[in-house]
Amino acid sequence: MIITRLAVGFLGTNCYILNMPYRNDAVLIDPGDNYTKIKAMLDSKGLTAKALLLTHAHFDHTNAVAQFARDGAKVYLHHLDVHMSRNDFGISGSMGVRFCPFDVDVVLNDGDLINECGMTFKVMHTPGHTAGGVCYLSERIIFSGDTLFFMSVGRTDLPTGNGRDLFNSLKKLFALDGDYDVYPGHGDKTTLFFEKNNNPYV
Ligand SMILES: [Zn+2]
Ligand SMILES: [Zn+2]
Repeated sequence: MIITRLAVGFLGTNCYILNMPYRNDAVLIDPGDNYTKIKAMLDSKGLTAKALLLTHAHFDHTNAVAQFARDGAKVYLHHLDVHMSRNDFGISGSMGVRFCPFDVDVVLNDGDLINECGMTFKVMHTPGHTAGGVCYLSERIIFSGDTLFFMSVGRTDLPTGNGRDLFNSLKKLFALDGDYDVYPGHGDKTTLFFEKNNNPYV
């Protein structure tokens, strides 16, 4: 899997472009803003976005979803965050950003398998930052959204956040066998093993 990271929007959210060699279709994890910038990167690689895998429904992870959906990409989101695809409780407004509502094509549950663009992803429900937060696992890689960061974890004070749930979600991640590369929703890439041993929040 080829992974390209773009930091988008004023919170510098990580949008990941994923594709397999010799294919022209791509998966986007969290196209949170800057449609034009993401599209330009796709074009430069000769790729078309076919699927949008959302780790949760906060605006900084979803504000370019409607534009890519209009181009034909399919939108994936956990069922407990679907209500936030139309209305984000004013979170974006409180930060001076317009929320761009979107439609969900595939409603996810824990353990679902997604096959897109020659890649397979397993859905792990990791509530705590939001009720419908998920991680996507593929090969030895985790896209952790705002659940787990390099040396940090997601905040739990926003609507549907819950500290106990987040703690249990982290325990679930750390119970996975072997090591994984972790690509978070903000900041630098890390590994599960490193966070297990060094993350001050767990
Ligand atoms: Zn978030
Ligand atoms: Zn975020």
